[in-house]
Amino acid sequence: MKVLLHMCCGPCSTYPVQELMNEGIDIQGYFYNPNIHPIEEHKKRRENVEKFSKIKNIPVIYDDDFRQSEWEEMKDMGEARCFHCYSVRLENAAKLAVEQGCDGFSTTLLVSPYQKHDLIKELGEKYAAQYGTAFLYRDFRPGFRQGQQLARDMELYRQKYCGCILSLPVK
Ligand code: SF4
Repeated sequence: MKVLLHMCCGPCSTYPVQELMNEGIDIQGYFYNPNIHPIEEHKKRRENVEKFSKIKNIPVIYDDDFRQSEWEEMKDMGEARCFHCYSVRLENAAKLAVEQGCDGFSTTLLVSPYQKHDLIKELGEKYAAQYGTAFLYRDFRPGFRQGQQLARDMELYRQKYCGCILSLPVK
């Protein structure tokens, strides 16, 4: 079984990749996160996905779309902006899974206890149905701490905020 795995960053990829590999799943990675700002941070997270995927020998498709101004315009939307943020990424993952001939897709966002887990599941299933593929749902959250330790062991960069410019801590 081949699955397209949307990867939000290196540290969040560690545990889901380990688990999916243990299930015997063939992984095609996909880095597509136009929500990560500023550009230096986007590059850093991309580089760490690259570093991690080389260690694990996983092929990854990189899309360097970057849309800081779009997120800046959502400053009055509060947390509703996350709906758009997940939608954009999961819809593209669903489309690419079909194009790549994968049996389905999933996302490393499912490992984070800080994300809106149920919403990610709902949107993943919605886009799977829309594009005629499957959303491989897993609750990876029990492995979050283990994944962070794996990231430390691999000396991956571990960010301090979710991603968009609106989630960036004010100094
Ligand atoms: S807080 Fe995180 S999930 Fe929400 S819009 Fe920003 S980057 Fe996306």
